[in-house]
Amino acid sequence: MWYDKNITERKIMSEPIIVVDKLRIIYNQGKSNETRALEETNLAIYPHEYVIIFGPSGCGKSTLLYSISGLQSPTYGDVSIQGISIAKMSRKEELDLHQNKIGMIFQAFYLISSLNILENVCLPKMFIGEAPRERKQSGIKLLRRFGIVEQADKFPSQLSGGQKQRVAIARSLVNNPEIILADEPVGNLDSESAENVLKILKELNEVDKKTVIMVTHNPEHLPYADRVIYMKDGRIIKEEVHKEKRPIESVKKTEVEKSPESNELQMLMNSFKSLLPQQVDVLLVPFKAKQLLAHLLSQLTEEQISMAEAFLKELLFKNITTETFADRLDLDLDDGGAGWNKLRANSFAIRTNQIIEQSQTLKEKPGQATTSLSRYLKELFNLHLSTEQEKNFEEALQMRLASQVGQVELAKYFDTPVAKGGAGLHKHTAEKIVREIEIIMLIKYS
Ligand code: ADP
Ligand code: MG
Repeated sequence: MWYDKNITERKIMSEPIIVVDKLRIIYNQGKSNETRALEETNLAIYPHEYVIIFGPSGCGKSTLLYSISGLQSPTYGDVSIQGISIAKMSRKEELDLHQNKIGMIFQAFYLISSLNILENVCLPKMFIGEAPRERKQSGIKLLRRFGIVEQADKFPSQLSGGQKQRVAIARSLVNNPEIILADEPVGNLDSESAENVLKILKELNEVDKKTVIMVTHNPEHLPYADRVIYMKDGRIIKEEVHKEKRPIESVKKTEVEKSPESNELQMLMNSFKSLLPQQVDVLLVPFKAKQLLAHLLSQLTEEQISMAEAFLKELLFKNITTETFADRLDLDLDDGGAGWNKLRANSFAIRTNQIIEQSQTLKEKPGQATTSLSRYLKELFNLHLSTEQEKNFEEALQMRLASQVGQVELAKYFDTPVAKGGAGLHKHTAEKIVREIEIIMLIKYS
């Protein structure tokens, strides 16, 4: 049959590879030891994402992962893989799912002690009836890739934990599945072996384009993920996007759906990583001063910067006017100023003022916010937008101001081509504009 591979591929990429729909898991339902391990949960995972499911022990992470793998049947709700509900799969389809589409890795490596390493890796191939010669070749290739080919003839008991986990990873890959599910894969490993295994998983995602879902309770692992799903008491309580790989339409959809609870400050915290919730009440103004300064400046001495920071604090606390601020920046360090030259002091004061003005508009006239900010950004960044570009630009801006999207999604809207609903800006410009917007939103916040 003739078909356009590109179109088909694009369509596949824009659909989730895994959909968890109103899933609930209750163990021992109706018995005295009934456990509600998973409350109603919805989750969509897209091709090539690296998702970490994170939360304390007992919060339901493994339960969710096993439900995705089909090892655990839903009590209520549904899980589908590539659009097919696992519960409705025929025996044959389910077999195909486990043999060819999903590779699993566990904390306890589950290697078979009576088989040697190569045989362990090739075991999944045996089940699909591949000839022994080919079987061995692909097994050897994987062992070589993970630096354990010398161990091929040994038995599991002769290997270290890190080596065993690499064998388990090789085994999970031998049928070339698209999805890798890993349940606390480094939970039993020393830190060096753990890092090694985490790097392998990252590489499988980035180089081999596998969709990876890893469960962990260790916060140090979180930076590896594109997206972190936080769980607590059987629920997803929040998600954090490091790298948006979902198609723009899907982000739009899900973000708008959850917008009522989405918290403006929470999003700003994602933009300013060093901002902690504890700082919000007491330290927000000094924090703003620091961020604003970092945003506006470089090339000054430490002392010039720290004095300017002090004056910015005064300005943000409204203890001084913009004029005094500019004067102070210009004054010599010896005279209690920041020792900048007049030119720099003035242009800095003007930029600061513009930002403060914009954030005031956001705060006091939310109805005019989008228009006002859009006009300001266009002027500041010298943007010449077509009607269509401008429409998409303002639409995205509006969503950010309503905290329906965060900075990552916003940047994505900005640099997505106009034809695909974006503003068609260069990536670099998009990022600069987003930083300006985040700063304005931060300064507004009180
Ligand atoms: P996590 O992986 O986050 O540590 P789990 O998904 O393993 O959490 O467990 C969630 C809850 O379900 C816990 O209270 C656990 O004791 C319970 N649980 C997990 N598996 C079973 C099971 N097979 N039978 C009964 N209860 C279970
Ligand atoms: Mg677990």
